[in-house]
Amino acid sequence: MRLILLGAPGAGKGTQADILSATLNIPTISTGNILRAAMSEGTPTGLKAKEYVESGKLVPDDVIIDIIRERLAKDDCANGYILDGVPRTIPQAEAMEAMGIEIDKALSIEIEDETIVQRMSGRRTCKNCSRTFHVVSNPPKVEGICDFCGGELGIRKDDTAETVRARLKTYHRETEPLKAFYEQRGKLVKVDNQPTIEATTAEIKKVLEI
Ligand code: AMP
Repeated sequence: MRLILLGAPGAGKGTQADILSATLNIPTISTGNILRAAMSEGTPTGLKAKEYVESGKLVPDDVIIDIIRERLAKDDCANGYILDGVPRTIPQAEAMEAMGIEIDKALSIEIEDETIVQRMSGRRTCKNCSRTFHVVSNPPKVEGICDFCGGELGIRKDDTAETVRARLKTYHRETEPLKAFYEQRGKLVKVDNQPTIEATTAEIKKVLEI
């Protein structure tokens, strides 16, 4: 399965990607996680990305295309992959097609903007492994500590209400047109966000027939 996850920031792409990745035994490639790791290591890519990521703007397409080219060439992608947060623009999708990157389905998780703004204020992210939790709907077993790696949980700099609104604007302008792009190619499937993570996973499994 070569899957793209589409949806606004906070739609639950990362959470569902982790679940699907374990179910299907294929890796999740998250450009957001790759960029955050590069930023904390202070690599040239990280330094280039920092101001964009922290202000909720998209990182330039050429940076993302290089990251994806390199990452998808690795052996663990041979049997499939889940792309979380990429492509984010039509030029990125076109560049991926031109590189010969195959896609089976593009899954859009549909959710209202206001639900996202409320949801993001409770999100907590592991500073070590990037897994996400929510203070109400998906709390860690021990407050402030990641269930998976024991890392410290924190609030992402770009999860503040003001930056979330900027990210939503960017989503509607730059990323939402990808739904039509993949619909034209017969690849688009949609699910509505459900009140619980498990219910959304169940809907996703239904539409993906897995
Ligand atoms: P995410 O973790 O997917 O919400 O991404 C966090 C931030 O990383 C975004 O707000 C962008 O600044 C940047 N980013 C991640 N993926 C992409 C992409 N495919 N294209 C451009 N910017 C991206």
